[in-house]
Amino acid sequence: MKNTAIAVDRSGSYRLYLTISTEAVREAARIHECTPLAAAALGRALTGTAMMGLMLKGDNDRLSVHFKGDGPAEEILAAADSKGRVRGYISNPAVDLPLKESGKLDVGGAVGNGSLTVIKDMGMKEPYVGHIELVSGEIAEDLTHYFTVSEQQPSSVALGVRFDEKGEISAAGGMIIQVLPGASDECLTALEDLLFYMDSLTLLIQDAEAMEGEDKIRSLMELIFGKLPYEFSPVILEERNIEWHCGCSRERMEAALVSIGRKDLLDIIEQDGQAELTCQFCRKSYRFDREQLTALYKRAVD
Ligand code: ZN
Repeated sequence: MKNTAIAVDRSGSYRLYLTISTEAVREAARIHECTPLAAAALGRALTGTAMMGLMLKGDNDRLSVHFKGDGPAEEILAAADSKGRVRGYISNPAVDLPLKESGKLDVGGAVGNGSLTVIKDMGMKEPYVGHIELVSGEIAEDLTHYFTVSEQQPSSVALGVRFDEKGEISAAGGMIIQVLPGASDECLTALEDLLFYMDSLTLLIQDAEAMEGEDKIRSLMELIFGKLPYEFSPVILEERNIEWHCGCSRERMEAALVSIGRKDLLDIIEQDGQAELTCQFCRKSYRFDREQLTALYKRAVD
């Protein structure tokens, strides 16, 4: 069963990306041993980035979304391709802050002030680079601002990660609504009202997931948009899957070692006699002994 829907409403006023990313966020939190606050921040970034990946057209297109703030979370990087595969990391997975007055995790406080950079590699000579100042560090607001300012695409982004009493992730997901050219004012007003009074997205995801044997993403869409007038209700164009996936490999690590050049490789061989490289996305380690390093040295240039 697919966990993501792409839809357009019957009046052609808005496009919708809706995803239940619970599994991918759980995997990320497990790999990086995240505190709930770190899992919320990284999970929101991963979920938003994965949906942005689905907006890419080409099979080999990819993008990365980099949050760089002055808060204790330090940096968050998420990267996705057009097939729904996403990976990412947070520099400080141990980040912890008191809850906000609202009882919510203080993601904005963890990220702090700083910037957001989106890099899209669409097979052109130069990648597309979009850069904005962070609005709140709450991730969804920052992405909303990015779409409006950098892509001139009026959008509304909602992202959430929910925890149970034991601190385990119980639901995660996201929604991006893009206003289409020539949108009906009546539709946008109805949509605004709907979003204003909407329950928390992750609470609705929990409800949708509790509905046995159903297409969860359709159930979720019905729970959120079911109250809209028929002509403004969304119709699914495509169902897709978002999943955690790291594409690192021994070959890529070898290429990285070769690229540091002969001088540095020789230093490693003489001083350590071995090397261990850890993928920052999935934390998988790759070991290289003296013999293997010497072979890479021969491939490297000065
Ligand atoms: Zn990896």
